Amino acid sequence: MVLILLGAPGSGKGTQAAMIGKNLAVPVISTGDILRAAIREQTDIGMKAKAFVDSGKLVPDEIVAEALRQRLTGGDCADGYILDGFPRTIPQAELLEDLGISPEVALSIEVPDSDIENRMAGRRVCPACNAVFHQRNNPPKQEGVCDSCGAALIRRIDDEPETVRERLRVYHEQSEPLKGFYERLGRLRCVVGTGGVEEINRRVMETLA
Ligand code: AMP
Repeated sequence: MVLILLGAPGSGKGTQAAMIGKNLAVPVISTGDILRAAIREQTDIGMKAKAFVDSGKLVPDEIVAEALRQRLTGGDCADGYILDGFPRTIPQAELLEDLGISPEVALSIEVPDSDIENRMAGRRVCPACNAVFHQRNNPPKQEGVCDSCGAALIRRIDDEPETVRERLRVYHEQSEPLKGFYERLGRLRCVVGTGGVEEINRRVMETLA
């Protein structure tokens, strides 16, 4: 089964993707995580993607598609996976269909922009294992330290308020139309993404049941 998560940056997609992945025992493939790792490792894809990611713009389709294609050859994808952050444009959704990858469900996590701007200010991520925390809503057990691997948590460069506003603009313009795309295919399901992490996860799992 292939499940895709839709939703604005900061809607909690990454957190919910990790919880669903654990629950269904399938890997989560996040194009944002793949691109950040490529940028850290200064690979060819990373060098091409860096300026786009840092400024909150979308990385051109062919670069992301290549990064995704490389990841999908991993043997762990055979029994299904969750896509977090791909597709983000209609051409990317069409590309998936062309590759013969038809997600059974496109789950959209719905959060108002005003909540997102507040949330992003408190988001902290682990640069080593990509775990996501929030200073108030989902704090790590020890402040500034990743629960999963013990690395020091950081704030993403693209979580600066001005970049967040740009990412939200890009989301509404280029990614929100994906809801209509999957609705027409009868695969769209929407979940209210406000409230506590566990409460949202209960709604998500009910919607997927
Ligand atoms: P995310 O971690 O999903 O918020 O992604 C962080 C950044 O990576 C985005 O703001 C984009 O610059 C880039 N990115 C991730 N996924 C895609 C995608 N499917 N298409 C284009 N750019 C992407």
